[in-house]
Amino acid sequence: MKLRLLSLYPDQMNIYADRGNILFLQHRCEWRGIQFEVTRCGPGESFNPDDFDLLYMGGGQDRDQKAVAKDLNQTKQEAMKVAKEDGAAILAVCGGYQLLGESYELEGETIEGLGLVDLKTVREPGPRLIGPVAIEVNLDGNPNALADGEAKVLAGFENHGGRTRLGPDTAPLGKVIHGHGNNGQDGFEGVRQDNLIGTYLHGPLLPKNAWLADHLIATALEHHHGERPELEPLEDSLEDAAHQAALTAARNG
Ligand code: GLN
Repeated sequence: MKLRLLSLYPDQMNIYADRGNILFLQHRCEWRGIQFEVTRCGPGESFNPDDFDLLYMGGGQDRDQKAVAKDLNQTKQEAMKVAKEDGAAILAVCGGYQLLGESYELEGETIEGLGLVDLKTVREPGPRLIGPVAIEVNLDGNPNALADGEAKVLAGFENHGGRTRLGPDTAPLGKVIHGHGNNGQDGFEGVRQDNLIGTYLHGPLLPKNAWLADHLIATALEHHHGERPELEPLEDSLEDAAHQAALTAARNG
């Protein structure tokens, strides 16, 4: 089996070393004997959506987002749409998450997003939304009924000035237990649509939440091989400790 990952703007969209998430995916695949291939896709480069099972974009400061947004729409928009419709897994973090939506408005300027999902981000007056965060997520159930089925917890860290609001038919990734989430008001965090996930949880999101890494690996392998694999469990004591530490930090606010 093989997982083919596309890393979008690895040099520009990598605040808090978000690309560490890719190393974590790689190790979890290799420990299970699954081949893992990373392709970098930067400014001016296009890609063929048939060649990838998992697309990843990290976070960035406003100026990084301005620098890539035009290029993203000019050279990658169509391929991103096809990849999403075809069921490839997509994970976008913070600045990358904001660019999946319609637009990001700040200081009288509008950065055009990819329009892959119905959401908008606005840099409203008020402090940045910063701190440890924990959310409750149910990836197996209906995203519009987050309370159904078995809920799992994602714990991490957020730092964003933009406030994101989802369109009426767009489902969040989860419910905020501690922290701010999309806008500090409606109690939701991130977005989820088919196999696309956008979230404000930064930095070592996947090492702190190994279950999400495995969910992405299984989804990507299903995309490539047509069948969802049963992933061999790994020895996760360090990952569990990292999750607990992030959760405790979120509880203590
Ligand atoms: N620049 C965006 C904001 O402040 C995203 C920040 C980030 O990726 N950390 O809202």
